[in-house]
Amino acid sequence: MNHNNMQKREELPGHAHLRKTLDRLHKTYSACHEGNVATYIPELAKANPDHFGVAVVGIDGEIYEAGETSAEFTIQSISKAFVFGLAVETHGRDAVLKRVGVEPSGDAFNSLELRSSRKPFNPMINAGAITDTGMITGASVKERMNKILCLLSDAAGRELRVDEGVYRSEKETGHRNRAIGHLLKNVDLIDGEVDEVLDLYFQQCSVLLNARDLATMGATLANLGTNPVTGKEVLSFDSVRDVLSVMFTCGMYDFAGEWAFRVGIPAKSGVGGGILAVINRQLGIGTYSPRLDAMGNSVRGIRLCTDLAEEMGLHVFNFTNAGSSFIKATFGKK
Ligand code: GLN
Repeated sequence: MNHNNMQKREELPGHAHLRKTLDRLHKTYSACHEGNVATYIPELAKANPDHFGVAVVGIDGEIYEAGETSAEFTIQSISKAFVFGLAVETHGRDAVLKRVGVEPSGDAFNSLELRSSRKPFNPMINAGAITDTGMITGASVKERMNKILCLLSDAAGRELRVDEGVYRSEKETGHRNRAIGHLLKNVDLIDGEVDEVLDLYFQQCSVLLNARDLATMGATLANLGTNPVTGKEVLSFDSVRDVLSVMFTCGMYDFAGEWAFRVGIPAKSGVGGGILAVINRQLGIGTYSPRLDAMGNSVRGIRLCTDLAEEMGLHVFNFTNAGSSFIKATFGKK
């Protein structure tokens, strides 16, 4: 689908090749049953462990998909990338970096540790994300949540909403995040009411979406901040640059270094089972499968993205140039 160009696009050989590749990888990893659905937020335990979908959206708006790409799940930590972008957009890079670092922590996402400079390591762990959430402006929690929801919806190209059950479950059981929030308040990284900031954070994590939405959001980042399907400008180029940089170094929890090394593309995962990955200036990838590894990353999502990057030469430092010839074959002369 391409709303920018209403004429039916010619199916290039690369299009068919990508569709076939997605079908094949989806089939291969459907047979993988490793990992477990997250249970520490009780409502997440209700996810169907067999759901599995992958979508790719090009910066020309073309969509490729395989499996359950309209099955909904909660965004969880993937929201952190966008809320960081919104904080940068609102206050500027320097103001945000005064409160949150950009160093990979090597620790679990819910680590209570702050850097020696008394700020969170980066925006992709809970401490950094809660700090960023506290920087979102608005007279009430409702108004601030509306801003976040609009941003996520604009990036996805459709109206998204909060899963009330997951939100309540996060709120009832989020004692560790509460501890992190109060720690941040103690070192003056949260200006307002800490309970309000936590409430907002629990809501932003509970936004429902599907693999197709994730791929479109990825394509919006790949397309310098403009949603390629709707044509709407969602984030400025400067914010997108910052978002992609921290996704590249810190997006996959304590697997981030290994991911950058092996897969070599900016990505962000969430404990709902989603992974969003971005090939800069080319395409967005969204995967959904709720069985997670010990670090909280989707097992099938990691394997599928690893193979896709390998086969298509998508690693940023890929020197065989397979990536660009694949992209030329798929998306024409872009
Ligand atoms: N809401 C989850 C939490 O804060 C998000 C974590 C995640 O996706 N890693 O624990």
